[in-house]
Amino acid sequence: MLGLMQSQPLLISSLIEFAERHHGDAEIVSRRVEGDIHRYTYRDLAARARRLANALDDLQLQFSDRVATLAWNGYRHMEMYFGVSGSGRVLHTVNPRLHPDQIAWIVNHAEDQVLCFDLTFLPLVQAVHAKCPTVKKWVALCDADKLPADSGVPGLSSYEEWIGAYSADYSWPEFDENSASSMCYTSGTTGNPKAALYSHRSTTLHAYAAALPDVMCLSARDSVLPVVPMFHVNAWGIPYSAALTGCKLVFPGPAMDGKSIYELIEAEKVSYAAGVPTVWQMMLGHMKPAGLKFSTLRRTVIGGSACPPAMIHAFKEDYGVEVLHAWGMTEMSPLGTLCTLKNKHLALSKDEQMKILQKQGRAIYGVDMKIVGGDGNELPWDGKTYGDLLVKGPWIVGSYFKGEGGNPLVKDAQDRGWFPTGDVATIDADGFMQITDRSKDVIKSGGEWISSIDIENIAMAHPAIAMAACVGMPHPKWDERPIVAVVKRPGTEVTRDELLAFYEGKTAKWQIPDDVVFVDAIPLGATGKMLKTKLREQLKDYKLPGQ
Ligand code: ADP
Repeated sequence: MLGLMQSQPLLISSLIEFAERHHGDAEIVSRRVEGDIHRYTYRDLAARARRLANALDDLQLQFSDRVATLAWNGYRHMEMYFGVSGSGRVLHTVNPRLHPDQIAWIVNHAEDQVLCFDLTFLPLVQAVHAKCPTVKKWVALCDADKLPADSGVPGLSSYEEWIGAYSADYSWPEFDENSASSMCYTSGTTGNPKAALYSHRSTTLHAYAAALPDVMCLSARDSVLPVVPMFHVNAWGIPYSAALTGCKLVFPGPAMDGKSIYELIEAEKVSYAAGVPTVWQMMLGHMKPAGLKFSTLRRTVIGGSACPPAMIHAFKEDYGVEVLHAWGMTEMSPLGTLCTLKNKHLALSKDEQMKILQKQGRAIYGVDMKIVGGDGNELPWDGKTYGDLLVKGPWIVGSYFKGEGGNPLVKDAQDRGWFPTGDVATIDADGFMQITDRSKDVIKSGGEWISSIDIENIAMAHPAIAMAACVGMPHPKWDERPIVAVVKRPGTEVTRDELLAFYEGKTAKWQIPDDVVFVDAIPLGATGKMLKTKLREQLKDYKLPGQ
């Protein structure tokens, strides 16, 4: 017997329809590439998304055709999130920080038909457009009078002129909720990038889950600033969850430095922000010397790479801001776990609570996870045993676009497919997962594993250290030994021996790095994460002490 409830597909268009009808006057504020602040409402957003949908129909774009963006976080990008997917096409957000050759490769692989870009990225478009034969329309996300006269990009249109020519009357089509809605390529640190192809169903389910109190806890009372880019994994799903909750949205545009972000938080009374640790490092670096405080910021989601405990502590104790540590990946839409306490933890001391809050957190309903050993058997949830982390759920990839890389899933005894995350983790008895490392970054010393994240976190707790990256170096006896590359905070001093002494008592003796290398900067990848492959290249002539 089937249930007798109405059958309505979960479509992205329903999110924007809901926001328009129930939160029509909630504000969306954007710092634009033009430098000014733009304000409008969900009602305006919905109308312009419909104009865009009419424009795409008029281009004769077919169902599931790909429309690409190279854009910052802003209202026009948000319109594309809804206009492109809502009309049945696939939004392909391209990461502008990738190398131009990689961008051309991705655009060709996705067979993008239209590419819309912020003018910041005109040089990038000039470099790649001739190599992208599938793109039949190039659009600059600007007013007609801002369009450069001599762009060198054939037929370049202004977005405003383009969509301005179409009506805001449009009925969103109804189709199978499993239809593709958007796509994002992994940064591809090894081999060619592979694309996660999200569906309307996966995206709307993820949007529901992300808004839950123990997840991102978004509400109509929040003013939300996603620093996390809309060009990578849908800004952690915030654009969709924002439409679902009707929160005020504040987009930082291209001004991603600590000062600009801080000023926007204050000016727009932001209560909630989201970003990777390196962004917050910059912001706290701007605020501390100037003695600045937040007047409205209450919570921040930090993820994408391990959030150093020292940062969680600084946010809480110095600024009164609660850090929600999150873990996920492109293949997971991206949210997998978030770290919030359970009822029984409320009686614990602050220090004991802090120990829990440093972990990557508990699984969200919709994500199942387990750790397995080399034999594929599940390992105990004791908070100590580590193994390969596997996940499954309705917003986790089953395979990559165009079958790239074959079947990524591993089967369990019940024949169910699990996605191997490439992360190594522990899970404790309460279900709190802690990432020990990426499997390729783990340091294997004398048959034991050393977590590079642990080594980095200790260094980052030293007042003179701004950033730390731990890598393994080949060793004739131990296979590998850890060393830590560090960037000093301006105006501070610490010697190699002082930093190594700082490790004493904080970790097992054999895990203390063999050496400290002082560097001006740690190489960062296209999503603001430390790029250890590059760091290892830079250190290729390095020799461990005594070798
Ligand atoms: P890419 O690095 O290709 O951009 P993702 O953005 O999908 O890929 O990154 C996913 C990976 O980032 C995870 O598998 C994990 O290694 C790392 N990661 C994400 N969040 C955290 C976190 N809170 N702590 C530690 N590692 C994290």
